[in-house]
Amino acid sequence: MAKLVCRDYGFECDFIAQGDDIAKVIVEYSKHSAEEHGIEYSKEALMQFILRKG
Ligand SMILES: [Zn+2]
Repeated sequence: MAKLVCRDYGFECDFIAQGDDIAKVIVEYSKHSAEEHGIEYSKEALMQFILRKG
C-alpha cells in the first residue's frame, strides 16, 4: 500500500493520502498540496517519497 502523510513533509496538517493504487495516491496528494499549501510536487518527486518509505 502507498501512503503520503502531509505532516511528514513539514506541514501542520492531518491530511493522509493512501491506497493500493500508487498513481491515485500521488494524484490525491498533489491536488491537496497544491490547493491547501500552494506547493506543486512533481509526480516523480512524490513517487520518490513513497518509494523511500518502502
Ligand atoms: Zn496538507
